[in-house]
Order: sequence, then C-alpha cells, then structure tokens
Amino acid sequence: RRFYSAAPLEAARLQTNKVATPKTYPDPSKLVFGHEFTDHMLIADWNRQDGWAAPQIMPFGPMPMHPASCVFHYGFECFEGLKAFRDVNGELRLFRADKNVARLKSSSERLALPSFDEAQALELIQRFVRMEEQSVPEGRGFSLYLRPTMIGTQPTLGIKSPDNARLFMIASPVGPYYSTGFKAIRLEATDWAVRAWPLGTGNRKLGGNYAPCVLPQQESAARGYAQNLWLFEGYLSEVGSMNLFLVFKNANGKKELVTPPLDGTILEGITRLSILELARERLDPKEWEINERKVHIDEVISRQKKGELLEVFGSGTAAIVSPVKEIGFHGEHITVPMNGKEAGELTSEIQKWVQDIQYGVEDHPFCPVV
Ligand code: PMP
Repeated sequence: RRFYSAAPLEAARLQTNKVATPKTYPDPSKLVFGHEFTDHMLIADWNRQDGWAAPQIMPFGPMPMHPASCVFHYGFECFEGLKAFRDVNGELRLFRADKNVARLKSSSERLALPSFDEAQALELIQRFVRMEEQSVPEGRGFSLYLRPTMIGTQPTLGIKSPDNARLFMIASPVGPYYSTGFKAIRLEATDWAVRAWPLGTGNRKLGGNYAPCVLPQQESAARGYAQNLWLFEGYLSEVGSMNLFLVFKNANGKKELVTPPLDGTILEGITRLSILELARERLDPKEWEINERKVHIDEVISRQKKGELLEVFGSGTAAIVSPVKEIGFHGEHITVPMNGKEAGELTSEIQKWVQDIQYGVEDHPFCPVV
C-alpha cells in the first residue's frame, strides 16, 4: 500500500520559536506522571494535497481545533510514549526512539492517517530533546517522557481517510515509578471484557484501545487490584499498559522466562523486545529457556499449586518492570512467592540491566547519546 504525500516530513525545514524565559520546575521528587509539561511542543501539519508543512517547535499551549475534526468523532488518534534520559555523565540519551517512531508509523497507517519518513521523525524528536535539554531531570529513575501523537484534523463529518492531520509532541519530566524501591502489585485476571481480539487493532497504539479499559480497571481497583490482567479465551495477553512476563520452573530443571507471543492482540512493547533481546544474550542457556508462547490462566493456577511459578512482572516504558505478587481470578488468589521481597531475582536483575543502559553506566546501542 502506498501513502501519497506531496511534500515529505523534513527535519531540515524545522522552524523554532523559543520561549523568552524557560520555566523552573518544582522539587523533582514531587513530579507526578504527566502533570508538568515542558516549555515547548512540536507540531507538523499534513494535508493530502500539499503533504507535510514545515515542522515547528513553539511555546507549549492550547491548540485551537475545528469542532468537526475527525479526531473528536471517530477516534483518528494514535500515540507513542518514550523517554529521554540524562546519563551519569550529564549527556542526553534516547531509549530506542527508532522503535517508537516505527510503531507510530504503523499505528498511523492502520488508521489511514499519513505516513512519514522514520529517519526524519527521529531527527525531529532528537532536536526537540536537545532544545528541552534543561527539562531533562537528573538522577537514576528520572527522565523526560515524550508523547508523540498523530490526529486526524479533517474538519468534516464523513467517515473517510482524513485529508488533514497533525503530528505533535509534548513532553513531561517524570520521576521514578517506584520512588522508594519496588512495590509489587496485585492483578485481577479479567475475562468479562476483552482489551483486544484476533484481527483487531490491539497491536497498534491507538487512543481507542485505552478508554474502554478504564471502567474494568476501576472495578478491579474497587476490589483492591492495581491493574487488569487481560485474558482472551483464557490466555494471558497483557496488563494495563504493560506486557506480561512469567518465570516458571520446568520439569527439566531449567527456569523458563515466558511472555505471550505477538499474535496481533498484544502491543509490541519496546521494553518487552529489549528484555527478550537482553535475556537471550545474557541468561545462561544451560539454566534458562526463553519463550514467546501462549500461557493459559489454568496453567498459571496449576503450576503455582505445584510450586513451579517463580516470578511474574509487567514491562513497559513507565516502570521498566513492575513486579506482581498476586493474580486474582474468579475468587482464587494465585500468589507469587516473594520471599519477603518486593521483586523476584530476575525482575530486579532486568531492571538493573535496562537502567544501566538508560543512564549510560553501560554504553549500549539501545540508548544512544542524542
Ligand atoms: N501494552 C500496552 C497496552 C501499553 O500501552 C504499553 C505502553 N506503551 C505497553 C504494553 C508497553 O510498551 P512499551 O514497552 O513500548 O512501553
């Protein structure tokens, strides 16, 4: 399929309009996720006839929109979430931004929104981060969260491939997900609602995938669970806004790191990919098997009873890993052995691997200097 655009998205055409006085932030330890925004935002408009207009970095603020804009009526919206870090030497790094750009492009194309050149989008993100340099907080666990977003802005009510669209990006300085060390969470396996289904769009990062998950989440929260563990026909898929990993002890004496396969119902998490790549490289194959395979909730229940369930954790940009201590399902409590700790051994090890890369303790191609 070809997406026709007259002028390509071009970082070289970037126009910048800087605020006169940069803002100062409150005590970084008080940052609440997504509450504070930086001084600037990036905007690039597209229309079918002319293609991409010159991208602009301008002062952060409201965006006037036509009330008929198709984003408001039919959900022409997709987004990304990625982070920039200030490393141990004070340099800026972006974690696998190329992967986020590729995912944004595939989400956008799935919604019949415009495509773009990935290298140009990446260059725009890098330039934005450099311009917001003073807003990237210092310290392990701190970062600048970036939110690239694509919306349809066609100002007419017919449902069609939008003739007008806007790519924009805002940024929010964030603190550690776990400010006082890990805190294991409880999940409720949910089968009365599904997040995604075969041949659907669960593998794309569409705004429309998220709002319907909030009501089930509230109901699980009322029963004391932090997040839903989404099931499809009894098989585990993912958690809230994280992918899911489990560690089993297998009959052959090896340990198995497992995550559900990318079957179209699961967001292709970049943390998930990174964990799999690092684990395949770093875990001893004499001791470990690493599998992307389907896991039924009944397998989790029966293996927990046999003492074969060792660890469960979620993975995502926000927390890197999030240890799970219990899964509730139809009144059953599947408890994960925590040995008096808030995170399992592998869960903690993976957190360290990824953070060392993000903060430049280990200079790794996942997280290049910007
Ligand atoms: N699943 C869902 C539904 C998500 O929203 C996210 C967050 N983007 C993830 C998984 C984790 O993806 P990533 O590792 O790329 O943040």
